[in-house]
Amino acid sequence: PFDVLIVGGGPAGSSAAVYAARKGIRTGIVAERFGGQVLDTMGIENFISVKQTEGPKLVAALESHVREYEVDIMNLQRAEKIAASDTASGNLIEIQLANGATLKSRSVIISTGARWREMNVPGEQEYRGRGVAYCPHCDGPLFKGKRVAVIGGGNSGVEAAIDLAGIVAHVTLLEFGDTLRADAVLQKKLRSLSNVSIITNAQTTEVLGDGKKVNGLAYNDRISGDAQHVELEGIFVQIGLLPNTDWLKGTLDLSPRGEIEVDSHGRTSMPGVFAAGDATTTPFKQIIIAMGEGAKASLSAFDYLIRDGK
Ligand code: FAD
Repeated sequence: PFDVLIVGGGPAGSSAAVYAARKGIRTGIVAERFGGQVLDTMGIENFISVKQTEGPKLVAALESHVREYEVDIMNLQRAEKIAASDTASGNLIEIQLANGATLKSRSVIISTGARWREMNVPGEQEYRGRGVAYCPHCDGPLFKGKRVAVIGGGNSGVEAAIDLAGIVAHVTLLEFGDTLRADAVLQKKLRSLSNVSIITNAQTTEVLGDGKKVNGLAYNDRISGDAQHVELEGIFVQIGLLPNTDWLKGTLDLSPRGEIEVDSHGRTSMPGVFAAGDATTTPFKQIIIAMGEGAKASLSAFDYLIRDGK
């Protein structure tokens, strides 16, 4: 069996793998797609000490760092089930893969990440990274002095609009329902800003562009039924971040949003199972945070192995 088996090959899993392998213990990493969300990212400007990079470049660096060590990388493999098993040789955790194989390990780190909920309207995919963005902390500064929309009037949408209002020329916040769903204190702050307009009952219908970049947004006024159009350069979609944890339902404690509940050491509700990154309840979904949490979960797994692991 493995000493540490990591499920998920994004920044959190890669960091966990390097930290585990450096302890000289048997380390494996299973990933549906090594690199994770970083593969889909264009410019990265907030990975501290690296002023500017691109997603695929950072993924290549992650992989080469992991390959410096004896880590068994099992790419293009999806985990479907986790179970604890008591055997004569001690407590092992089993991970079942979609291909039918079962991997056994003395400890497991889950770092299966998350995905942004998409609007599913024409133009969204075409202009992704060319005006359509999902992360205000990452891409906000790219729209300095420009006009943007934020889609979604929940906490994350309203937080994004407040954040962006300090950088961009104008923010239009569009909410599908008839009221914003964000906390009252956030709504008050938002309404105090002079360069923000709020449109409720707005159903986004299309991302418009000139073939290269976004130049507008079409929506339907759900009360009048009229088609409307906003001219802008950027669209931030804030309608939810979905953790990749469906396969853990019923085995690990998850939050109401489906995030894996972890304590300050990255422990989950199952002994010997740790978790890190965007799949967990740890706030602020960022590369540098996922890496830090991956390192922490790995050190916790090592601590578990030398204390409790048989
Ligand atoms: P992920 O990167 O999501 O990796 C998850 C891994 O788990 C993948 O390998 C995936 O294939 C695998 N996996 C999932 N389910 C299974 C399964 N059942 N079995 C096996 N493997 C599985 N952050 C920044 O800090 N700066 C930025 O500029 C930035 N820009 C972004 C731009 C975009 C378009 C997106 C989408 C995100 C951006 N982020 C940025 C956020 C950042 O990418 C994430 O916070 C970070 O990748 C989270 O790392 P993670 O390892 O937790 O998860």
